[in-house]
Amino acid sequence: MSNFVWCHGPSCHKSHTQDRIRGVKGSKVLRTKKVQQTTYNSGQHMSMYSYFCSQGCYNDFANTYVREVIALHPRTEALETPIEVVKEQARDWSGRDYMETKIIAVDTNGG
Ligand SMILES: [Zn+2]
Repeated sequence: MSNFVWCHGPSCHKSHTQDRIRGVKGSKVLRTKKVQQTTYNSGQHMSMYSYFCSQGCYNDFANTYVREVIALHPRTEALETPIEVVKEQARDWSGRDYMETKIIAVDTNGG
């Protein structure tokens, strides 16, 4: 049994590639590609590659539907990550000393 989803790229069926050609002479079409669901792109490994055949199709989808996606998860205020900024003396590959600025995330979960 084949386990797949159709690529969600809005223009997937318009790309001129031979693997999209279906039908018989006189009634050929370019068809949306199948995205096989494997252990690498489904279940706990679900990602954009579960729904799109390529980065290009993902970009087409994101650019076409960005307003709707943002409406689902709007950002109305800035997020912040507590940090500490630490200056440390360091030495580069040629032996010169320099001051390195390190940004260290602060654990706020009490652990
Ligand atoms: Zn596609």
